[in-house]
Amino acid sequence: MDTNHQDRLLHSIDLLLDAVFLVEASGRIAYVNAACERIFQYTADELIGRPMIDFVAPEDRDPTLQEAVRIMTGHPRVGFENRYVRKDGSRVHIMWSACWSDADHMRIGVARDVTEQKRAEAFQAATYAIADAALKTDDLDSLFPQIHRIIAERIPLTGVAVATSDRQSKLLSFPYQQDQFGSAPLLDEPVAHRYCSDVIGSGHPLLISDLNLLPPGAASTASATWLFLPLVTRRDAFGALILRADAGTFDSQKDRELLNFVATQVAIAVERGQLRAELVHAAQYDELTGLPNRRLFHERLDRALGRSQRHQGRMALLYVDIDDFKKVNDTLGHAAGDLLLQEIARRLGGCVRHVDTVARLGGDEFVVIIEDIHGPADAAQVADKIRHNLLQEFVIGGVPLHTRASIGVAIHPEDGRDADALLKHADSAMYQGKALGRPR
Ligand code: GH3
Ligand code: MG
Repeated sequence: MDTNHQDRLLHSIDLLLDAVFLVEASGRIAYVNAACERIFQYTADELIGRPMIDFVAPEDRDPTLQEAVRIMTGHPRVGFENRYVRKDGSRVHIMWSACWSDADHMRIGVARDVTEQKRAEAFQAATYAIADAALKTDDLDSLFPQIHRIIAERIPLTGVAVATSDRQSKLLSFPYQQDQFGSAPLLDEPVAHRYCSDVIGSGHPLLISDLNLLPPGAASTASATWLFLPLVTRRDAFGALILRADAGTFDSQKDRELLNFVATQVAIAVERGQLRAELVHAAQYDELTGLPNRRLFHERLDRALGRSQRHQGRMALLYVDIDDFKKVNDTLGHAAGDLLLQEIARRLGGCVRHVDTVARLGGDEFVVIIEDIHGPADAAQVADKIRHNLLQEFVIGGVPLHTRASIGVAIHPEDGRDADALLKHADSAMYQGKALGRPR
């Protein structure tokens, strides 16, 4: 080839967007084209004569040396991937096509920068992992740390927080926040609250470096940056995924777009978790009073009975029914009756320890489980307290009201050994009391 031809060829190779390397058998770089500087940030002078392996990311050096041996023993390959450390310390993901030239005694390699594709793949893997975790996880409390881990595996984060607004009250809270060491708090909630409202309102991500976002008492030297991503589903925008990292981490517009897509998966996962939690709650609690319903009451009673039997202890079951409740509905209306039931439920809760169970069986019938009592006197004392409390005036919609409760008591094991027997006993004791107490 004459010099003219050779120059034209070299010029053309310099126009290629992929990097071209010629590497000696010793592993030293003999030639690079112009694209190398764009991809690796080193000039040709800085590369030529140096061992190629010096530029490979340390964790990829072993497989790279093995691949070089394969190429040099006559196994050309398209598709080998490894990472290099650029001059500025950042990583570049390379896909190679390489072969060995016996005549030149050189390895010829063409390097394509696939960093972008790799990132997109990583984010896609994250969205799959999040969707998968959401399917396999029953409650949000254990889903949030998994989401944190999945994202942190792909992006160097210094913390993750999740903000969600209650579907009914619209109140915003932070059910999860944790830094990279597993401790909280991550941010100042009132300040974060404002930014969350912005992203929920607009549906657009927000990149912030506001020192006021650091939790009170945190070292304000940290150059933290926060990415607020809206949690949006087809139903609504209901919260924000908040990622904290060192300054510069979220500078790429493309990364932010990909993370926004990750947030969509998080939103779907969180919504699913919330709906599941609502279903579980609706199946166990009474909608009007928020007390455990009949089903949960039976579960709790069975468990309390089991404990009582094991410890050969005593427990009491109180059956409470309001006298003449229909009158309230008839005179003040059903809505007032509902308010009264809610207030009665609150008062009942105030009469027992928090370990005891107050449940609503339906209508104006309530039951109370009291564990670890010494004898009937303890149960009678609680019954008296309830009776006394419910005798106190209620004010419903500005109208003063008086009620009376009939209460039947059953003690385990004296009055019954199983749930049915105890309930029957307490129920008939309540009716006897009602019959005696009635002025009619
Ligand atoms: P007694 O003195 O014999 O207990 O008679 P009562 O009027 O209290 O009636 P009873 O306990 O037999 O039945 C409760 C009544 O409460 C029946 C129904 O009219 C009313 N009720 C049941 N559920 C609700 C409810 O969710 N809200 C309201 N407002 N009223 C209810
Ligand atoms: Mg009643």
